[in-house]
Amino acid sequence: MKGQIMSYQLTTNAILEYGNSVFPHQSIISHLPNKKRHEYSFSDLYKRSKKLSNALVNTFGVKPGDMIGTFAWNHYQHVELYYGIPGAGAVCHTINIRLSEQQIEFIINNSEDKIIFVDASLVKTIEKMAPLLVTVEHFVIINAPANFETTLPNTISYEDILDEVSDDFQWVESEENDACGMCYTSGTTGQPKGALYSHRSTYLHALSVMSPNAGCYSVNDTILLIVPQFHVMAWGFPYMCLLAGAAMVLPSSNLQPDAIIHMLEREKINKANGVPTIWLGVYEALKKNPPKEELTLEEYLVGGSALPQSLIEGFENDFGIKGVHAWGMTETSPLGSVSRLQPKHKSLPAKEQLKIRAKQGIEIPGIQLRVMQEDGNIAPRDGTAVGELEVKGAWVIDAYYKTTSREKFTDDGWFKTGDVSTIDADGYMEITDRTKDLIKSGGEWISSVAIEKAIMGHSNITEAAVIAIPDKKWVERPLAGVVLRNKDQKVTPEELIAFLEKDFAKYQIPEYYVFLDEIPKTSVGKFDKKEMRRLYAAGQLK
Ligand code: ADP
Repeated sequence: MKGQIMSYQLTTNAILEYGNSVFPHQSIISHLPNKKRHEYSFSDLYKRSKKLSNALVNTFGVKPGDMIGTFAWNHYQHVELYYGIPGAGAVCHTINIRLSEQQIEFIINNSEDKIIFVDASLVKTIEKMAPLLVTVEHFVIINAPANFETTLPNTISYEDILDEVSDDFQWVESEENDACGMCYTSGTTGQPKGALYSHRSTYLHALSVMSPNAGCYSVNDTILLIVPQFHVMAWGFPYMCLLAGAAMVLPSSNLQPDAIIHMLEREKINKANGVPTIWLGVYEALKKNPPKEELTLEEYLVGGSALPQSLIEGFENDFGIKGVHAWGMTETSPLGSVSRLQPKHKSLPAKEQLKIRAKQGIEIPGIQLRVMQEDGNIAPRDGTAVGELEVKGAWVIDAYYKTTSREKFTDDGWFKTGDVSTIDADGYMEITDRTKDLIKSGGEWISSVAIEKAIMGHSNITEAAVIAIPDKKWVERPLAGVVLRNKDQKVTPEELIAFLEKDFAKYQIPEYYVFLDEIPKTSVGKFDKKEMRRLYAAGQLK
């Protein structure tokens, strides 16, 4: 028997209608690439998104299902694209500006973008490949200065297209299972692959991100969205904030630690998101130059790479700011798990609590996790049995765009993450490695992540990345690339070995250390081990 409930389509239009009707006064503040500050309200966003949808349908002839690309920083116009493109029945394809030119060209041609909305400050990258972009009919330039020039063909200014149309427009109606957004993976493990999100998955993901055991956001919050809108839809925050009524602050290209600290102070931000590298930079800058007044920031949500225990501890002890650890992937929209303490943990010693918070956490509502052992059995939730992490849920992809390969999916409908992890008796998942990053030395597995975490616990080390290098006797041995906090204060390999001896068996401890100015990073700020392996093979990692 079916329930007797109205059919209410969970769409991005419904999110915007809600935000506009319930929180029309709430602010969206942008610090633009030209350093100017812009502020307007949810109701302004609503009107301009309507204009954008109108222009897409009536000026450009966009049809349902058309792909429309964006190549832009985090700012209010990009949020308008998040709503205005699906509002026209089309799919908002956010292109990662930090990928290689070859990858960007591949992505645009693979997705068959018809129009690309590009920031004036980013036009140069697209100009170089423009002749190869066979499906693109128009380039719309955002934030163009008065005397702006470009070699791109068929360009028009963003403001001009909005000026010419009215905001009196009926959304193109979409069904909740229609596509509304698309992101490609950052290709750390091969060519980027497309993850096509639906209206329904976007809506449900936003609700779950907002919920108290996950991000815990409401109308009382002013949130700094550091995670780029070109990477996994800024973790769904531009949608979540309209449902929560939370004010948004968008930094565009102002991502240097001092610029972030300025925004935290100026906009009285109390919550934020971002990858660990960003927060490490902010922490170091705050240590050097402590703020005159206590920051209003209460907590930052971190994912994308592991949040080091030392960073959680440093921020909390020095500035009273809480780090909340989350895990996700492009393929999971991205949020899958979040680590927060529960009442049952209150009586634990601080060190034990910290260990739990440094795990990747429990599933957020709508997601299921399991760990699959090599023998094909599901690992017990005991915190020690290791295997590949598998995930399923209401916002996990069930195929990659335009591919038929089932390699990443199990027969019983789970997605294979490529992450190696454990789940403990309380359901807290911990990533111990990536299948590709594991080191097998003398027949024994070594977790590169565990060693990195431990090295980063050293007071004079800010970053550490461990890779496998070939070894005649042991087949593979770990090599650690490390970055010193204070370069004048040397740390020797012998000291590091002694430092690790308390936590690791002898065979697990790297004997090779390379001191670097910084660890190579991927387009989204993760340690780029593929690049480290390449540098090693080229004899450049010494
Ligand atoms: P890519 O797989 O191309 O790097 P994603 O940004 O989708 O692109 O990355 C997802 C991966 O990032 C996860 O599979 C995992 O390996 C890693 N990751 C994400 N969050 C965390 C975290 N909190 N701790 C450790 N690794 C993480």
